[in-house]
Amino acid sequence: MVLRKLDYGESDRIYTLLTREHGKVGVLARGVRRTTSRLASALELFSLVDVQLAKGRNLDVVVQAVRLPGPRVEADVERTAHAGLIAELADRVSEERHPLEGIYELTVVALAELAREAEPRRASAYYVMVALDLLGYAPQISACASCGRPLPAASAAFSPVAGGFLCENCAQPGMHLVSVSVLKVLRLMASGDIGLYRRLKLDAELMREVEMVLEAQLEHHLERQLRSLKFLRQMRAHA
Ligand SMILES: [Zn+2]
Repeated sequence: MVLRKLDYGESDRIYTLLTREHGKVGVLARGVRRTTSRLASALELFSLVDVQLAKGRNLDVVVQAVRLPGPRVEADVERTAHAGLIAELADRVSEERHPLEGIYELTVVALAELAREAEPRRASAYYVMVALDLLGYAPQISACASCGRPLPAASAAFSPVAGGFLCENCAQPGMHLVSVSVLKVLRLMASGDIGLYRRLKLDAELMREVEMVLEAQLEHHLERQLRSLKFLRQMRAHA
């Protein structure tokens, strides 16, 4: 899957690919910015490709690339911005030449979901939750992140520093409370049942709260801010 591209030299480009078996791989595509290049259309961002590589001096060089059938997301600005978040996160957590269990499969599923989903925010929120879970960074959603007691069916304070939700006794006064519906949505996402998640009704306020929790958790665990997330926030602010 094509995660990223970077212009290089006169007419070349460096692509970051996410592969099933080799983790993240940086490759050089020579002459790809020339109008006569056949590689460019195959190597579109967020697409699935079958590539043949030749050993290069630093980076492997693309010899052939065939785009595989699959959804296209690039026609729509909002969808593309969410695909950017999915790709940036996949890029950030993956290691060169070292596959991270499940991240390739999840990224492929999430981008397909993004293409078919009428509301793109739903697909990217799902991806962030399952990716956090794969990385071992998922927020605690069943028991209090501080004392470990089961969380009651009530609104709860969320603390990325504590690692999840806090019960009434452990929450500090003035902490922002998140509705119990948010907990239910997060639990459903964590179960990985995308069929059930698709049928779930998420109104604008609930979606906003779910995003807020996931983004706070994500940013707590990443050293640098995600550029795509900054862009999505600007987009939301102007919507
Ligand atoms: Zn507690």
